Amino acid sequence: MQADPAHPRPRLLRGEVAAAEGDHAAAIESWRGVERDSPEWLALVAPGWLAAFAALGRGDEGIEALEAVHRAHPSIDAFTALAAARAERDGGAAAVAWAEQALQAAPSLLGLEKLLAMKAALRRDGEQAEVELAQRLIQAQARRLSRYVCGHCGFKARQFYWQCPGCNRWDTYAPKRSEELERG
Ligand SMILES: [Zn+2]
Repeated sequence: MQADPAHPRPRLLRGEVAAAEGDHAAAIESWRGVERDSPEWLALVAPGWLAAFAALGRGDEGIEALEAVHRAHPSIDAFTALAAARAERDGGAAAVAWAEQALQAAPSLLGLEKLLAMKAALRRDGEQAEVELAQRLIQAQARRLSRYVCGHCGFKARQFYWQCPGCNRWDTYAPKRSEELERG
């Protein structure tokens, strides 16, 4: 915080510590700084963001704010967290309708994989076989596109790292999956 108060890392981590201690208001306050100054990083804490708002009885506000960020900076992590929050609040069918609309605005194979999983869970008559076929077809490609990538050495990882395990440099990962990086 002292070295670089506007850097997303201390803000995101401080919010995670506060959330773990049950101080949801402090978590939101710290993450609000990220939302304001480096919104594309908010996706890294998308589930925590929604949980903190929900814990304070402000779930709708959390969803609305994260959706605004997602519209400007589409991310599979925000999309997945929002789809889950909407399914819990509005039901599976409404969440599928929301996800279809969100994917029209920002097409993504990783998003499509998530949408298919949501559809499979609904077990709609006449749709199931087609959904399962599409899931099988895109599975391997989606896995390939879901990695985080070090901007210095190219090390690919399933999880996000602040310090690259390949080259040991700090802050070389963008808060984006390879699909989003290739597109951008
Ligand atoms: Zn690296």
